[in-house]
Amino acid sequence: MSTTIARVERWVLRAPIANPVANAFGAMTNRPAVFVRITASDGAWGWGEVFSNFPQVGAEHRGRLIESIFAPLVTGCADDPATVRTLLERRTRQMAIQCGEPGPFAQISGGIDQALWDMAARRAGVPLWKFLGGGKRVRVYASGIGPDDVVAIAEKKRGEGFRAFKLKVGFSPERDVANLSSMRAALGDAAIIMTDANQAWTPADASESIAALAPWHPHWVEEPLLADEPPDAWSALAARSDVPLAAGENLRGLLPFEQAIDAGYLRFVQPDVGKWGGISGLRDVAARAATRNVCVCPHWLAGGVGLAASMHAIAAFGSAVSYAEVDANPNPLREEVFPLAIDDGNVVLSDAPGHGAEPDLRRLQPYVVMAP
Ligand SMILES: [Mg+2]
Repeated sequence: MSTTIARVERWVLRAPIANPVANAFGAMTNRPAVFVRITASDGAWGWGEVFSNFPQVGAEHRGRLIESIFAPLVTGCADDPATVRTLLERRTRQMAIQCGEPGPFAQISGGIDQALWDMAARRAGVPLWKFLGGGKRVRVYASGIGPDDVVAIAEKKRGEGFRAFKLKVGFSPERDVANLSSMRAALGDAAIIMTDANQAWTPADASESIAALAPWHPHWVEEPLLADEPPDAWSALAARSDVPLAAGENLRGLLPFEQAIDAGYLRFVQPDVGKWGGISGLRDVAARAATRNVCVCPHWLAGGVGLAASMHAIAAFGSAVSYAEVDANPNPLREEVFPLAIDDGNVVLSDAPGHGAEPDLRRLQPYVVMAP
């Protein structure tokens, strides 16, 4: 019996936080999330999450787009991810271009794809990592550290079991070097420390900024340039840099990923399942990356549903050297929805059907700003 999509529901949530989460281009003063639940004609259901960190007012907009455009489009369709992906690419492209919003449209399609994979695995009664053909162990790193209190936060995260840590840079050369050098001194030579510039530098100043960090051996430097700088600028920087480059959270579409991978300037590629492609997109990027010896390390810095989808996807499509990103900052929309136990730098995913994130909407009620 073929099943179809019976219902698409979305919740927009905002959790207050004590301290803003800052990066090189802005700050989050609260933590938003857009959760999508898709229910099929046989009663099966699955959850996905749509990127909504920036702009801060944008989560409600994505909620309205889902309700007004996406839900009517997919309701009644066959509920397999490939069919829906093709349908959405065909039926939303013109509108996305017309309103100048390819980003939010791609983000929502990514969230829907996650929900459909979750649903398929739940229906089969197996965990998503297994459904996708992977193992259950995932290496993780603690992300979003800095620019303040970096040593205290890193040591706290080490106490929780993390063995790899990502520092935000791109603030000022002095601050970046002081933060990285103090983190390296506190964590020791064996610790893995990544750095993330969040597109802060220009082709003219990026090499110097990276060279200043290199003595403390960052595992990678992420988004040293704007994601849309020409490939030649990225290639020239990679050729001059002693630190491997990482990027991908701001690439949209398989072609840009394939071009970046094939050009050879990235050693780490970072698709975000809630910004483009969902689990299907991550799978396709990983397949291309494997042909060029590029390591896939998915980006994720939002709620627990997308974190679960991201971790199950990398468990299936990553390699032994992949890492999943786990936000180090407090966020009840992550911690209460997909709590993690970290053991010596690894997470062992559960055997629960699907990706295992089932938001308890009664408990999350104080954070709900938009419900079906
Ligand atoms: Mg980043």
